[in-house]
Amino acid sequence: MSGSCVVIGGGITGLAAAHALNAAVSASLLDTATLLEAAPQLGGKIVTERMGGFVLEAGPDSFLTIKPEALELCRTLGLADQVVGTLAPRHVFVLSRGVLEPLPDGLAALVPTRLLPFLRSGLFSVWEKARMVGELVVSPHRDGAEESLGEFVRRRLGPAAVDRLAAPLLAGIYAGDVDRLSLQATFPQLAEMESHHGSLMMAAVRQQLRRRRRHPPGDHAAEDDTDGLGMFATLRDGLDHLVNRITDSLPHVGVRTGAPARIITREENQYRVHLATGAYVDADVIIATTPAHAAARLLRGLTPAAASALEQIPYVSTAAIALGFARADVAHPLAGHGYVVARGEGLAHTACTWTSSKWPLRTPANCVLLRCYVGRAGDTRALDEDDDSLVATVLAEVRPLLGITGPPLLARVHRWEDAMPQYEVGHLGRVEAITDALSQTPGVLVAGAGYGGIGLPDCIRQGTEVAGAALRYLGAAAG
Ligand SMILES: Cc1cc2nc3c(=O)[nH]c(=O)nc-3n(C[C@H](O)[C@H](O)[C@H](O)COP(=O)(O)OP(=O)(O)OC[C@H]3O[C@@H](n4cnc5c(N)ncnc54)[C@H](O)[C@@H]3O)c2cc1C
Repeated sequence: MSGSCVVIGGGITGLAAAHALNAAVSASLLDTATLLEAAPQLGGKIVTERMGGFVLEAGPDSFLTIKPEALELCRTLGLADQVVGTLAPRHVFVLSRGVLEPLPDGLAALVPTRLLPFLRSGLFSVWEKARMVGELVVSPHRDGAEESLGEFVRRRLGPAAVDRLAAPLLAGIYAGDVDRLSLQATFPQLAEMESHHGSLMMAAVRQQLRRRRRHPPGDHAAEDDTDGLGMFATLRDGLDHLVNRITDSLPHVGVRTGAPARIITREENQYRVHLATGAYVDADVIIATTPAHAAARLLRGLTPAAASALEQIPYVSTAAIALGFARADVAHPLAGHGYVVARGEGLAHTACTWTSSKWPLRTPANCVLLRCYVGRAGDTRALDEDDDSLVATVLAEVRPLLGITGPPLLARVHRWEDAMPQYEVGHLGRVEAITDALSQTPGVLVAGAGYGGIGLPDCIRQGTEVAGAALRYLGAAAG
């Protein structure tokens, strides 16, 4: 087999694809591979900054360990000794009716699996708790019809679980609207739990029993199936080390940064990627790992049908605001990983991670680092403010909650425009329509956060899979 492949977009999806293509060139399965990135640096949303002894992640700060792809890639790249889990205690709080309430221990997949902590929790009233426990007898929908995350949780657990759990904890990951996001596209495991077990609570209890059978009491190391790391892990010195290590592992890929692709055309037997500079690159296969709206612009001339389908995926803008303080100026013990803001609290910020309590070595001695998020589907007004005013708005909200008395030692705003894809109801159909439309231009592929999962492990999986699809296409074309 031979041929050439261009990957457009050097975020984690494009890097994972390039990593797989590098191996293919090295094994003479592919003639050339090129990676084009518009920005001066690779990594896309993975950006780590270091300021005054603070380590700031502008975008993602960690990856899920229960989806193995990110952890595996770190190991393959020789980064295993730099992978760190979160610090204990791992409590998460919900800001509800102005009070920071801890999530009850034993809450799994939105449902309480331990009775006492749930009954003692101040997050829900007695009636709301009764409604949630009543989930056990709510009859399941078995028709498999797509529904919104909000509709599903309201139906099974009641409205309080939507406002105080599903909206901030689940939809919050997408900066999305809980009543617009598709259950099947965002949390298909919840739909499966209902269809297989009839009830989320029943499914969670059975899962726990299975785990206990696998790991009898005392077997703490294996308790969470993640080598003791917990649900989330990161790299000790910053996630940009993952980007740098992948980049160093691409000797057979022509990597070009500061190289924005403008359009793609068909020229005789190959595709041509025209760069904004006027230069171009020809290839048999094109993999676009840019956000869907950027892929639409690239493909409009070549395949208007695919471009229109790509434009149907909405994106939301967000900002992450890092705030550093002297420890003595923050009265709250910060014993946990931070809080999410329940729906309807009327605040600009949607969550606040206590970074210095979550990760080791991110903060100078006697300091704390917080990260607040602003912007969600349907409410991005605060993002119209300039940086100083946005910091002032968020500070005014956070100060009384955490008893902050002194000025910030550091305040840094990272803005992400049209950054978070919204997997709204109909998303799976929209992705299918994109795939169908692209079947008219064989060898043009898309992958990344806009389509099959927004987390780093999902993006790495998609990057690896799309590289495999490219090689299969070339193999079939040659054969
Ligand atoms: C604030 C924030 C926090 C997050 N936190 C987490 C987290 O903790 N854990 C987690 O797993 N996920 C998190 N995510 C989600 C995750 O970071 C992203 O979904 C993922 O990094 C997206 O990777 P990607 O490669 O698909 O896209 P991107 O990172 O967006 O990469 C696309 C690349 O394409 C380039 N590009 C665009 N147009 C062109 C063009 N015309 N020519 C050439 N290049 C182009 C862009 O410059 C960019 O580098 C977070 C996201 C944000 C914004």
